[in-house]
Amino acid sequence: MKKNSNSTERQYRLLILDDDAMAGDTIRKIGEYLDFQCKQTTSVTEFFTRVRDWNPDVVVLDLYMPGKDGLEVMSQLADKGYGADLIITSGMGERILDAALLSASEYGLNPLGVLAKPFSISDLRTLLNQVGKLTKNHKFFDQSDVFSVEPTSIDLKKAIDLSQITVVYQPKVYCRTGTLAGFEVLARWNWNDHWVSPDTFIVIAEDSGLIDDLTRLVIEQSLVWFANIPQHAYYSNLRSMQYTTLSLNISAKSLTNQDLLNWIVRRCDELQIERKKIIFELTETSATSEFVSALSTLTRLCIKGFHLSIDDFGTGYSSMVQLVRLPFTEIKVDKSFVIANRNSAVSNVVVRSIIDLGHSLNMLSTAEGVEDEKTLDFLKELGCDMAQGYHIARPMPGEDVFSWLEQRESNRELSRLESVKKSIFFDTAPDRDIDRLTQLAAQLLSVPVALVTVLDQTTEWFKSKIGLSITELPRNQSFCTYTIEHDDILIVEDTMKDKRFQSLDIVLGDEHIRFYAGYPLCTPNGNKIGTLCVLDRYPRSLSKTEARALKHLSSMVEFELAETLKPKNDQFSALVDKKIFLMKANYTLKLAAEMSQRATLFYVVLNELSLVNRHHDRATGDHCLQCLVDVVMELVETSDLVGRYRGAEIVILRVGESESTSQSLQNAVSQRLEQLNNKLTVPVRALFSSAPLRLCSQTALSEALEEARASAKVIKDF
Ligand code: C2E
Ligand code: CA
Ligand code: CA
Repeated sequence: MKKNSNSTERQYRLLILDDDAMAGDTIRKIGEYLDFQCKQTTSVTEFFTRVRDWNPDVVVLDLYMPGKDGLEVMSQLADKGYGADLIITSGMGERILDAALLSASEYGLNPLGVLAKPFSISDLRTLLNQVGKLTKNHKFFDQSDVFSVEPTSIDLKKAIDLSQITVVYQPKVYCRTGTLAGFEVLARWNWNDHWVSPDTFIVIAEDSGLIDDLTRLVIEQSLVWFANIPQHAYYSNLRSMQYTTLSLNISAKSLTNQDLLNWIVRRCDELQIERKKIIFELTETSATSEFVSALSTLTRLCIKGFHLSIDDFGTGYSSMVQLVRLPFTEIKVDKSFVIANRNSAVSNVVVRSIIDLGHSLNMLSTAEGVEDEKTLDFLKELGCDMAQGYHIARPMPGEDVFSWLEQRESNRELSRLESVKKSIFFDTAPDRDIDRLTQLAAQLLSVPVALVTVLDQTTEWFKSKIGLSITELPRNQSFCTYTIEHDDILIVEDTMKDKRFQSLDIVLGDEHIRFYAGYPLCTPNGNKIGTLCVLDRYPRSLSKTEARALKHLSSMVEFELAETLKPKNDQFSALVDKKIFLMKANYTLKLAAEMSQRATLFYVVLNELSLVNRHHDRATGDHCLQCLVDVVMELVETSDLVGRYRGAEIVILRVGESESTSQSLQNAVSQRLEQLNNKLTVPVRALFSSAPLRLCSQTALSEALEEARASAKVIKDF
């Protein structure tokens, strides 16, 4: 059986260029063993003849060649439009190989990776196993295209005049959840039955002054397509379309053309396209070369409400300076780094630093050239916001977008329902940890109703609720259905004024809900299983701070969700242990700080525990402690975080209360302890104190705890 013949009828062809015949020989032998058809040469001229006549599927290229180096060979391959796979080999060390790999991607070749000499059979085997599996840069372009004649500006002018430049759309999705984020518009030109690469014709257009006409043609088509989306977004499977953005590539040369830009603004208005949904992509280099005139144009576009994205980041110069000075809202990591990241430690670092840079400048990061699942996982780990690439989808004609999305969304819904089924949220007893957060949401955002919900195929279940008597809603009657279509908060300031919600039972019926704000809740694998939401019976708005707090609370609920597999509570007293207490307290304190709320730490310790243990037995000690825990749990508020800190120490973190609470809690504990002591055979004594948390941080927490320990007072002496 042919080992490499998985889906093709013919064997793959492997061509080796290495001036070291022995090394070439070894590669050839391994290739043949893996059932490749192999040819090997030490001459560059012969190599190119074979590339042309034999049409290999993969070439192995040695970087060091007397006379001509591997990089020149690569550049020549690229000039000829060579679209097959490439393996770079050398004995020159990893950094040089990495750099060569980057150049290969830059040239638009398809590097599978590098083979550092000396290499093992399995190194080569791993690389060769990928042949033909990677998506091809030039797949869009026919094989017969290779080595074809280039069109001239006259050809291009004719094509523009005849509107023969068409457009395709490539989706961009959020890394964490896979939700559709937007589309990038890419120009296509079919000239004499050949697809000419945009990298070729855009340059021709720029050099011959045709770029503005071309841009106009591309943008007109895509805006008309985009303006029609709301019609489709009506259908449940395509509703995520209503939030999508449209990214347009703008050549630096066009930035000086005010007419063109005014025309774009006018067309958006005429077609009733929201400006904030349009993103202009500019390459880093273009912003540099025409910097001064670009700056004012870009700022104007920004003021008008459009978004700006810095394209191909990492390939241009003085990147940092541009970024800080120009009003960009998105940074796109160039695909050469993203593609090379699979095999190159250097690219890996570059991708990471660009994403970090974007975040520290408050920009969204998008990685392009995402060709496989592993890369997507890596990006998720780095906290990259969005991903674009063949792994998600190839650029496609506008009419194909809807069926593509329909398919994708139904797959995602299946996976979502699977997560819902597996989630602890579903069909389990009430959970104090989650109730605490629901309570905090209601309290901090001053609403009468707060919910944690889970959405299955037919129903929205309330996992935790405050202020509502019902326990579930039919899916088609729920807000949640809409919230999870997007990754961001959904705010409905007045339900009666929103067509989507004005006829819901919960709005028209007894509950009379007029305000809604909710965040989707994600499982660690990115499935949105439900929401955390706050509701009110009067129309109202939500401030930025409040929206942030709700988001913060959602991630705290997600933390509870993710935590399920660990044995989370202190076995003995059913309270969280010190480690988890500190973690949750930290989140809670940040939230309190965000909302400018004070926090207090209460401290109760069963002072006699060791004595009881010594004079009686452990079981009696345990019983006493359990009684104290029961007393505390009866007295605390749902929104309090309670933990067992050390053996007999119980700590309670409370957000947003006045001084007097301390006293009343202390009195209550003391009273209940007295009752308890009447029942106990061994008299116990508890100490109580509290300390306000001034600075909301973990150090403040341990300081407050020390203070509380020091000032703990006897509650009841026997
Ligand atoms: P770009 O703006 O960086 O566009 C992304 C390019 O990456 C597109 O190539 C796209 O097909 C390709 N791509 C997307 N995903 C992957 C992937 O996973 N792997 C690989 N290897 N490639 C991927 P395309 O369509 O050939 O466009 C090339 C460039 O031409 C664009 O690069 C853009 O700079 C320029 N261009 C295209 N259309 C226009 C246009 O309408 N106006 C202007 N000014 N420039 C355009
Ligand atoms: Ca682009
Ligand atoms: Ca790009």
